[in-house]
Amino acid sequence: MKELYDLGEMPPTGMVPKKMHASVIRSERFGLPDQAFRTEVVDVPPVRRGQVLLYMMAAGINYNNVWAALGKPLDVIGARQRKGEAEDFHIGGSEGSAIVWAVGDGVRNVEVGDHVVVSGGVWDETAQDIRLGADPMTSSTNLAWGYETNFGAFAQFALVNDYMCVPKPDRLSWTEAAAYVLSGATAYRQLTSWQPHVVRPGDPVLIWGGSGGLGSMAIQITRAFGGIPIAVVSSDERADYCLKLGAHGVINRKDFSHWGRLPDIDDPGAYGAWVKEVRRFGSAFWEQLGERRAPRIVFEHVGQNTIPTSMYLCDNAGMVVTCAGTTGYHADVDLRFLWMRQKRLQGSHGYNLRQCHELTQLVASGSVDPCLSQVGDFSEVGKLHQLMHDNLHPAGNMAVRVNASGHDE
Ligand code: NAP
Repeated sequence: MKELYDLGEMPPTGMVPKKMHASVIRSERFGLPDQAFRTEVVDVPPVRRGQVLLYMMAAGINYNNVWAALGKPLDVIGARQRKGEAEDFHIGGSEGSAIVWAVGDGVRNVEVGDHVVVSGGVWDETAQDIRLGADPMTSSTNLAWGYETNFGAFAQFALVNDYMCVPKPDRLSWTEAAAYVLSGATAYRQLTSWQPHVVRPGDPVLIWGGSGGLGSMAIQITRAFGGIPIAVVSSDERADYCLKLGAHGVINRKDFSHWGRLPDIDDPGAYGAWVKEVRRFGSAFWEQLGERRAPRIVFEHVGQNTIPTSMYLCDNAGMVVTCAGTTGYHADVDLRFLWMRQKRLQGSHGYNLRQCHELTQLVASGSVDPCLSQVGDFSEVGKLHQLMHDNLHPAGNMAVRVNASGHDE
C-alpha cells in the first residue's frame, strides 16, 4: 500500500494511507480566499472512538470558509490552538459526499463502503444540556464541522462523528449530493422550526438573496410547505433564476436606496426619506404578491443593510428569522414596531439531525433540487470561495470534486 494516493485514485477499500492531499489555510496566508487556500500534503488524522473516516468524493462551497480564509471575525486556527489542539493549519469544508472508509470503536450506524452525506453540526452527545433535552444545536458544545473543527471536507479524507453520517440520496451525483445540506438544512430550520412561525399554506415569505445558497433552498422549501416565496435579488438574471425555481415574485434591490443602518429618528429629513423608500419597497412586495398582505416570515441573513426593512415589512405578529449578518452585525431595530405590532426577531443557526434528515427526504423525493450551478476541480477551492466573497458566484450552490475526479461525478 502506498503512503499517498493521487486525487481520485482509490486505495484498497478500508485501507488508510499515511498521507493525503488537502486544501489548507494557514495563519500566514489569512486574507482573500484565492490566496489563503493551498493544496498541501498532510497526515491523515487518526480515527478515535465514535468517529468515522470518510473518503471524500465531493465538497460543497459555503460562506463560512470565506470567513475562515479571511481569519475574521474568528481566527479559526488560533481558537482551536487555545483549546489545546496541535495543528497549525485549517482544513475547512462543512459539507460533502463521501464513502465511509474506516470506523472507530463503538460505531454501529454505518459500515465501511456506505455512501453518505455529512450533517455538519458537531456536539458532545454526553453533554449535560443535551442529556437534559436541549436541541443539540443550542448545546454549549455545539461547533460547525470544517469551520470551528479541523479535518473538514476539503481533503481526500475527512473526520466526522458517527451521527453526522446521513445516507446519500441515490438519485444525486456525488457533486450534487455535496452541495445541498448546509444551505438547505439551515434554511429548513429557519422556515420550519420556530413555532408558531412555521411556513403554512398561503403564507407570504420574503426571501433575501433569493438566488444564493440559502435563498435558492428557501424558495423551494417555502413552496414545498405551500407558502408564497417573494425573492429579493440584485440583477435581472438572478430574478429569472428565482422565478424558474418557484418564486412567486421578485424584487430587484438595486431599484431602492434605503439600505444600511436606520437613520436617527430625531433627524426628520433623513428618517422621512427612509420611511418613504421602505414604503416603496413594501408596495413592490404587494405588487409581486398580487395583494396587500405583509410577509408572515422574513428569511434573513444579510443583516445590517436589510434588517430595518425586514422588521418594518414583517406582518403583525410575524417573524424575521436570521442566521447571519453578512453586511454587518449592528442591525437597528425600531422597538416601536417590535412591541406594538408584536413582531419576533429570531436567531437560527445551522440545523439538527432531524432537520438534516427531513431536508434530505425532500431532496431525495425531488421536491427540493440541490441547485448545483458550478463544479470546480479540487485546485479551485480558493477560486470558488473568492467568487463567493466578491458576490460574483453563479446562482445556487457550488461544489468541488475531491476524489470524484475521474469517477462518476
Ligand atoms: P450566498 O450564496 O453568497 O448568497 C447570499 C445572497 O445575499 C447573495 O446571493 C446576494 O444576492 C445577497 N446579498 C449580498 N449582499 C447583499 C446586500 N448588501 N444586500 C442584500 N442582499 C445581499 O451566501 P449563502 O450561502 O446564502 O450565505 C449567506 C450568509 O449566511 C453568509 O454570511 C453565510 O456565512 C451565512 N450562513 C449561516 C449559516 C448558519 O448556520 N448560521 C448557514 C449558512 C449560511 P443579491 O446580490 O442577488 O441580492
